[in-house]
This record gives sequence, structure tokens and C-alpha cells, in this order.
Amino acid sequence: MKKETIVVRTGDSLYQNKLYSRDVVTPIHLSSTNSRDEIDKPGMFEYVRCDNPTRNSLEHQLAKLENAKYGIAFASGLAAETTILLSLLKAGDHIIACSDLYGGTKRLVDKVFNNFNIEGSYINLTATENLESSFKPTTRIIWIETPSNPMMLLADIQKISQIAHKHNILVVVDNTFLTPFFQNPLDLGADIVIHSGTKYLGGHSDVLNGAIMLNDDSLYEKIRFVHTATGGVLAPFDSYLVMRGIKTLAVRMEAHQKNALALAQFLEKHPKVDKVYYPGLASHPQHSLAIKQARGFGGMISFELKGGEKKVRDLFSHLKLFILAESLGGVESLIEHPATMTHVSMSKQEQQEAGITDSLIRVSVGIENIDDLIEDMEGGLNTI
Ligand SMILES: *Cc1c(COP(=O)(O)O)cnc(C)c1O
Repeated sequence: MKKETIVVRTGDSLYQNKLYSRDVVTPIHLSSTNSRDEIDKPGMFEYVRCDNPTRNSLEHQLAKLENAKYGIAFASGLAAETTILLSLLKAGDHIIACSDLYGGTKRLVDKVFNNFNIEGSYINLTATENLESSFKPTTRIIWIETPSNPMMLLADIQKISQIAHKHNILVVVDNTFLTPFFQNPLDLGADIVIHSGTKYLGGHSDVLNGAIMLNDDSLYEKIRFVHTATGGVLAPFDSYLVMRGIKTLAVRMEAHQKNALALAQFLEKHPKVDKVYYPGLASHPQHSLAIKQARGFGGMISFELKGGEKKVRDLFSHLKLFILAESLGGVESLIEHPATMTHVSMSKQEQQEAGITDSLIRVSVGIENIDDLIEDMEGGLNTI
């Protein structure tokens, strides 16, 4: 089945209530417990933290979307990440991640798991030549974000997976930015995919959720056990909202990408803009890798304004359509300043090393009419 069909149809395919209400759409099953006939004969469902018909329908769809055997739905992206780390690591273990890793993930490793003697190293994953030299005997996981946030750097999933697997290291890919519509890391050799479904999967800036997809049976057993044992599971109502969002994932992603490319091309030509970071531009240093490992470039852009933070503030004060807010992936266009907003928890030196300057702006390009978006941006740029 093609992605456009999977997004519309597979969420409801588990729910075959043909004899009773014949619903076309999966109902929201709110019951926290389920009855059984005899003490040792439970039905398919026992208790909502373990299984729930609405959440299970979403999980079935999440698996299909990533070409995976298993999907697991979580209360947030960070609940999914916490569950992976709790399932796969023990005290003394080491994890490697990309240098401009999502701030919340870095905080989780350095400020929470660090208390349990787990150590993180952050390295540039755009080049793989020196990757092996960063391995320690205790390295268990390489954590990839591609494109990364906010610099839109790419990591070669296939190459990194090959190198990691030679050393029995697992590869986790955070696929939030491109979504399974544009990129399927498991097909490229990764072991586990995670998503903050709060972004594009939900797609309407109204539901917090996370997901894990994978193929390996024993890894699945471990992660599913911790999912149930620690309880960061997705609520039935929110599972329904995510399925509702996913139905338009294909059309939304096409629209996000079309607008992002047009806006990136406009910004690249504007005299007040220094640099534009978008993998869909021919000028992106890894444009060919983007084409090789994904079917699209997504809807996220970063760019450098000439002139520093004051100019950024001026521009933001003149924009009417771009909403000044953190987060991304909703139908509306959002704009933000990583140095003082999403990436403020990094030290100035860490920001500098990652390329996050005071002039850097990140845009989550929405699906409004592109002429309106460009007119708004052009008006702002020409005023400052
Ligand atoms: C938002 C985000 C997360 C965290 O997800 P939550 O749903 O906010 O917990 C992780 N990774 C990336 C790339 C994100 O954008």
C-alpha cells in the first residue's frame, strides 16, 4: 500500500465492529478496564495502560507508516525517548548523538540519565570518517536526527548503521522532521525510529504525543515492557486526535514542502539574508544525500539575517502571518529565534560550536498560501 492510502485507511482497519455500529472511524474507547468471562480468561483487553483499542489502532498505523513490524504510542516524544533509554541502557553505558541534538533529548541524557551513570557524547555526524574513533567499549546507541535542528545538517543513516552494527551499537533515528511520508530510516538500516508526533503526525498543534517504530522482536519486547511498566502511554482521546491528524499527513507534507522550497528560494535571493539552510536547495552542501536517503526535504527552514539579534527582533515585530512560537509541524507558519528560545539551554559556547548564532531564525513553514507568506516576509525584511 502506498503512503497516501496508509495514512487515510490503516488507522481504522483494526477496528472491525461490523456487526454492531459499523463505524467508519475508530471510536474513542475510554474504558480504563475490560471485563472477562472467568478469572483465567481475560479478553483481548484488560487494562488501559497495557492495551486500548483506540491506541492499538494508532500503533498498527504507525507501524505501517514506517514500514515497521511494530509501533508503540507514547504520551510525548520525550516519554518515547525515556522508554528507549530505560529499555536499552544500564549504568556505565555511553550514548553518542549529533552535536545539534534536540535540546530536550540532550537535557534528558545529561541532566536525568547522567544521575544513573549514563554518559552522552555529542559529535558532528555529517562526516562518518572519524565516527569509529568516538566509540568506547561502553557505547550502546548512536542517536541521529536528520535533518538536524536547527542547522538542517544531514547524517547518512545507511553508512552510520553499517559502521555501528560492526560494533554491536544500535542506531536510533529521530524522524520527527521528515516524517515517515518522506523518510523511512528502518529501510536504511536503523534499528529504532522515534517521533515527536506532537509535530507533523498530529499536525495541528493540538496534541502532545510520541511514537516508536521498529522491526526486531526482542527489542520490541523490551521496549513494550518498559512502556507498560513505566506508564508513559498515550491516552485514548489523544490517540484518536493523532489518527485524525495522520489522515492528512500526505497532503500536508506535500504542501509544507512546496511552501518551504518557495520561501527558501525567496530568502536565498534577498539582500538582507546571509545564508539559508534547507536540504531542498541545490546550495545545501548535502543536497545529494537528501535526495539519496529521503523522498522529500520537509517543511523546516533556518536562515541567517544580516545584522544580529536587534534585526531579528525588528523583523519579528513586523511579521503578521508568521507566529512567534516554539514547536513546529502544524498547519500554521511559526517563526522563532533558536539562540534565545528553543536552544537557550545550550551554553553560548555550545551554541557557537553548533552554528547557532544570534542572527539565526528557524521557520516551520505552514500550508497557508505561499504568496501571502512571501508578501509578509518581504514586507518585514524591507522594513528593517
Ligand atoms: C519536539 C521534539 C522532541 C520532543 O517531543 P515532545 O513531543 O515535545 O516530547 C523530540 N525530537 C524532536 C526533533 C522534536 O522536535
